[in-house]
Amino acid sequence: MTPRLADRTARISSSPTMKVTATVDRLRRDGVEVIDFGAGEPDFSTPPAINAAAHDAIDRHFTKYTPVGGIAELKRAICDRYRQDYGVEYREHEVIASAGGKQALFNTALALFNPGDEVITHAPYWPTLPEQVKLAEAKPVLVRTSPEDGFAIRSGPILDAITARTRGILLNSPCNPTGALISEGDLAAIAQEASRRGIWVILDLCYEKLIYDTTPHNLPAVLNRHCRDLAVICGSASKAYAMTGWRCGWTLAPAAVIAAENAIQSHATSNISSITQKAVVAALTGSQEPVAVMLEEYRGRRDALHAWLTADPRLGCRKPAGAFYLFLDVSDVLSADGLRTSTDFAQALLDESRVAVTPGEAFDAPGFVRISYANSMENLREGSRRMLEFVQKHAAVARV
Ligand code: PMP
Repeated sequence: MTPRLADRTARISSSPTMKVTATVDRLRRDGVEVIDFGAGEPDFSTPPAINAAAHDAIDRHFTKYTPVGGIAELKRAICDRYRQDYGVEYREHEVIASAGGKQALFNTALALFNPGDEVITHAPYWPTLPEQVKLAEAKPVLVRTSPEDGFAIRSGPILDAITARTRGILLNSPCNPTGALISEGDLAAIAQEASRRGIWVILDLCYEKLIYDTTPHNLPAVLNRHCRDLAVICGSASKAYAMTGWRCGWTLAPAAVIAAENAIQSHATSNISSITQKAVVAALTGSQEPVAVMLEEYRGRRDALHAWLTADPRLGCRKPAGAFYLFLDVSDVLSADGLRTSTDFAQALLDESRVAVTPGEAFDAPGFVRISYANSMENLREGSRRMLEFVQKHAAVARV
């Protein structure tokens, strides 16, 4: 008889985006050359000043336990950054540092949701968001954004999805995988209604530093203005400072939420690495020039990749406003030649052309694939060339 696992394991599935990374790793270990458009992490190295702060922490033996939610210096650095960037005021007891935005969001789900609560979020989504809601035994309620509208996150359909059971609204802007934003006006409408009804508004700002449009996107200020007591802001050093492996994210929220998250984290992981904390202090308080340099590089890649791929009208996409993903509509190529789903498309593209992309099914968006342009221009050029050739070949078969 198979020993029984807990019921919650049947409710969740492991991260599909990480599966692509695992497949690419396996192929590379077997000596196969693959262009990886799957990876959801910056290809840049961590800036040298940040690395130096970490070396210094080790040399000074700053290698012991710290307070669960992080050292005061780090909490102050996070609050100062948000004050400078957004004009919002948070104090040390309103912030906690966690192991990446992922743990920040997980702590938040555990701290806020009860079994049976409904939590509204938007689809296509980053798969961890609804899975974490389910781990908290609450129910994700999905509101679809549409490709015709550039996947913009609109207040209307989100407000329409509110019921008596709604406990939270979880928004990710810029959004992974679509790169779309929520406008300040739409967020204000949501925040006002949330305030009237006592609903939590959780913002995943993991890609907050990667916005190419000039549209105002001061979401923390909007929440502070309309529903500060119900606002939970989760951020991360991972993408902004090319620090995915260091594991540092944070939550800014009312003191009672932070106290609950501290208690949860104190029994789960305790503090994040002491060395990482010193590195992130340097990242947040030092020159922000490296962030601007990386943003410009991503912008150039986004524009080039968009131009190359949309040269074939069978591949559809708009230029994303933020993050570093192109969300490509491949539905015109499907049903051709046995490629029935975007998972088939991604598998065949990997097998035949050695290009890895993430199928839309991972984000609840069949018919699409996600391409990460956190990759060198050479790889983007060669990868798009191979993709265009692949589409040409398969579409040609379909016409026969
Ligand atoms: N939110 C979104 C939308 C993400 O895509 C990611 C990482 N891919 C995260 C949060 C968390 O990243 P990290 O834990 O590295 O901060």
